Amino acid sequence: MTTPFFLQPLERVIGARTARPLAKMGLLTVEDLLRHYPRRLQDRGRFTQLADLPVGDLVTVLARVEDAQLRTMHSRRGVILNATITDGTHQLRLTFFAKHEGALMGHRKRLRVGTVGLFTGTVTEYRGERQLAHPDFEMLADIDDEAAAIEKRMQPMPIYPASAAVPTWRISGAVDTVLRILQPADVPDVVPAAVRVREGLLGAHAALVGLHDPSSEENYGHARRTLQFEEAFVLQSVLVRRREEARAQRTRPRAATGDGILAAFDRRLPFTLTEGQLAVGREIAADLAGETPMQRLLQGEVGSGKTLVALRAMLQVVESGGQAALLAPTEVLAHQHHRSISAMLGPLAMPGMLGGAEEATHVELLTSSLPAKRRAAVLEGVTSGDAGIVVGTHALLSEHVRFADLGLVVVDEQHRFGVEQRDVLRTRGESTAHSLVMTATPIPRTVAMTVFGDLEVSTLWEVPPGRPDVETFIIDPARAAWVRRMWERCAEEVAGGGRVYVVCPRIDAKDPAEEAAGVASVIQTAAQLRSEPVLAGIAIGELHGRMSMDAKDQAMADFVRGDVPVLVATTVIEVGVDVPEATVMVILEADRFGLSQMHQLRGRIGRGTRPGVCFALSDRLDGVAARRVDAFATSRDGFVLAETDLELRREGDVLGAAQSGITSSLATLRVLADRDIIAGARQHAEELLRRDPALTGVPDLADAIDRIESTGAGDFLDRA
Ligand code: ADP
Ligand code: MG
Repeated sequence: MTTPFFLQPLERVIGARTARPLAKMGLLTVEDLLRHYPRRLQDRGRFTQLADLPVGDLVTVLARVEDAQLRTMHSRRGVILNATITDGTHQLRLTFFAKHEGALMGHRKRLRVGTVGLFTGTVTEYRGERQLAHPDFEMLADIDDEAAAIEKRMQPMPIYPASAAVPTWRISGAVDTVLRILQPADVPDVVPAAVRVREGLLGAHAALVGLHDPSSEENYGHARRTLQFEEAFVLQSVLVRRREEARAQRTRPRAATGDGILAAFDRRLPFTLTEGQLAVGREIAADLAGETPMQRLLQGEVGSGKTLVALRAMLQVVESGGQAALLAPTEVLAHQHHRSISAMLGPLAMPGMLGGAEEATHVELLTSSLPAKRRAAVLEGVTSGDAGIVVGTHALLSEHVRFADLGLVVVDEQHRFGVEQRDVLRTRGESTAHSLVMTATPIPRTVAMTVFGDLEVSTLWEVPPGRPDVETFIIDPARAAWVRRMWERCAEEVAGGGRVYVVCPRIDAKDPAEEAAGVASVIQTAAQLRSEPVLAGIAIGELHGRMSMDAKDQAMADFVRGDVPVLVATTVIEVGVDVPEATVMVILEADRFGLSQMHQLRGRIGRGTRPGVCFALSDRLDGVAARRVDAFATSRDGFVLAETDLELRREGDVLGAAQSGITSSLATLRVLADRDIIAGARQHAEELLRRDPALTGVPDLADAIDRIESTGAGDFLDRA
């Protein structure tokens, strides 16, 4: 079988010389080139008049060659070609440089004095005179159909993502060549005709032509919308199919018995569950009791009590005779979960011990910094099934870890893990385990649909009642009086039994330039605070990723106890850390942090009974960074902040523009701005797959999906 035109190597279609520089940009096939979408449309309108050439603008002028001289440069090695073109009244200079005369001979010949041409380039100024350096040009005498050439130049022109070696007009040229040969049947059609009609979309071929060679701005917009829909539709089909495949798997049901460890735990809970915790708890309980492996995302506001929901799910699995694993992204968090789960369970975590309960199970901790002997003992409990709940870091994913009967994998703060890691444990046993992934970074619905389209989503909107207020202030670090007042406030909080976090963007300023620029680091800030008169007599600790696990543990323990009530840290404390006494969060150089990151940091305070205060230091008055800090100070609603964050980011950042395959083309889709397109595509994909699960009616779509699944181009799902 011959290779379809769409998949043919470019060099075979446009020649090796033209194809070579494009290959350097990763454009190897006809499809690569046609999927290299223009960034925007440049409206050239009429030709620019020579009398009116704004410096910096890309212009096209129609003019006659008046003079052209090729000469050797005196000052540096090389040759220069200077030409003057005119519209009869005004003149414009063209300049070309080259190392050797030979390189410019062709240009010199084509720029015959007296002939007329079209010149496209960016206007620059040299010694007070306007000029075009290295313009792209076409002499009308060389063109068969003058009128057609002029008309083409009048149409809006697509501007491509380009490089210095491959300017946008070169890409245009290659695209033109390909489009002249391209037939409608060459372009895969991934959207069923009925859907195209209902959504008012162009045909697949017409859309590509309309994007690269638009007849009008409307045509370009229509083409763009069509291609966006196609992309969203393929992506949603991938996700819906994955979900259906997962639903077809079977696992052991883990129903609660009603008289085991979960029931005992619920009886000793010191507070009542929130409405949300109850509702989500019921959804999860039903999932676990079923034969289909649960694949659920639990998202929630910071401090909404996700851990408790997860713990109850784990206990249900233990009650039914299985084991549960809780995967945490950092050692600090794994230790904290282990500590707090053991504490919440109390006698229920002390099997066979004096004072232990009858239904009790072992809660084990597995991290890479565990001493060998301890590690062996933990692994023994995991393998025998004695350990009902195993909390751990990445160490849990090691292949030496074999569970006797793993029924549930909980992944906390999933955005720190990749999909593959999430799945390692779940699919290792004989039957696929249930899975619950949790995120404290709220995700707008269309993002959830896009990034986690194969998961069911539960949301905890409310935080438990009675949570104290947290106020937020932006502090300009240049105002010494405000800064002093801030440290005074910290001292007051400590005196009242509170704790203070001080977060810095760096551990240590290794780079002298950074040090000169005053980028706050943990080491320097801690030293500085120790000599701050206002904080005299208050112990100041440090916590960052370069410390040993023991040292980190010690620092956390000192802070929790209150022996060292001020902790200077990096964002290691960003997720999950739960110290109810903490009342102050100081974020140094807040403008360097992401919006959801700041929200997470602020979520570390106001967890007990006392109101909290957050200080965000920033000297930015405008720009995106300043708007982030402003938004942060204005709202405490994680869902609102997540949307603002997305709006402030450039397109592509959400799903990672740098990634291959479908992701790179996804740059045309903005998860927020294009939410209607995504939601519509989702609906059509669901309908189609329900009617035609094998996609026999849309073979091009089946191919596209296979390609994504087999090349791993779907790994964009790693990006949360
Ligand atoms: P997050 O959702 O941010 O992970 P946590 O699970 O760490 O939040 O919960 C925050 C705190 O709220 C914990 O100290 C937890 O014990 C407490 N908590 C959880 N549920 C409730 C509830 N229903 N009533 C009161 N406090 C609760
Ligand atoms: Mg948490």
